[in-house]
Amino acid sequence: MRLNTSFKKRAEAIAVDWRYRLRLRVHDELPAERLIAEFQGEAVTPDHVPGANTEITARLLDVDDWSAAIIRRSPLLIVYHPAHSYARRQANLMHEMAHILLDHPMVGFDPTTGLPVRDPECEEEATYLGSCLQIPRLGLKWAVHQGWGIKSIAQHFGASEDLVRFRGNMTGIQILST
Ligand SMILES: [Zn+2]
Repeated sequence: MRLNTSFKKRAEAIAVDWRYRLRLRVHDELPAERLIAEFQGEAVTPDHVPGANTEITARLLDVDDWSAAIIRRSPLLIVYHPAHSYARRQANLMHEMAHILLDHPMVGFDPTTGLPVRDPECEEEATYLGSCLQIPRLGLKWAVHQGWGIKSIAQHFGASEDLVRFRGNMTGIQILST
């Protein structure tokens, strides 16, 4: 599946608009927690989910097959895996926030398997918008003009180097590989 150009433009506009609302520049890092706080929300680890089943909590802390999930919308509560790196957590939380910003329906659960049923198009949109929120095209352009390579750009935006490469590919902006 491929996202169309109008969605990609919209995603860039949303990413820039949120920086503007939060009085950040296009090339400032936007930590996911700051966006979540703007929605009066909270991001917590499984052991801090109020009323969570202790067995489920223990299992979630023990395995690595999940990254983050929206527990509820109002008030907003997102759970994230505490063992993942800062950059990975940012990507995961921004992905979840993208679902909120795009007003995607909550993920349902298959009644027989108990597994989440995700809509592939929504997932692709959330991943794309999440990456724009981390590094808007204009922010990437600014960083490249500073003469920065992938490593510096990743550090500056609190993103992984893979995400910087992805943004370079998506925007067609050439980035030094150092
Ligand atoms: Zn998702």
